[in-house]
Amino acid sequence: MSRLNDLTGQRFGRWTVLERRPKPPYMTGTDAWWLARCECGKERLVRGTLLVHGRSQSCGCLRSDRIRESFQKKRLERGA
Ligand SMILES: [Zn+2]
Repeated sequence: MSRLNDLTGQRFGRWTVLERRPKPPYMTGTDAWWLARCECGKERLVRGTLLVHGRSQSCGCLRSDRIRESFQKKRLERGA
């Protein structure tokens, strides 16, 4: 069980978990918080449950990459 709860060094999408951090005071709930580094180099505190359930996979750059890709695809489809 303790191994399950230790996310250090694990990868979730683009996140690599660096270390456990105390819960930020402005956050509610009992989740564990982790300092994670995205592949793009950004570091951020991420709620453990989001990582484990795959609901956080990057700092946001993954989504903007996808949006950019779909824009490019649309432009190609229009023949521009
Ligand atoms: Zn990123």
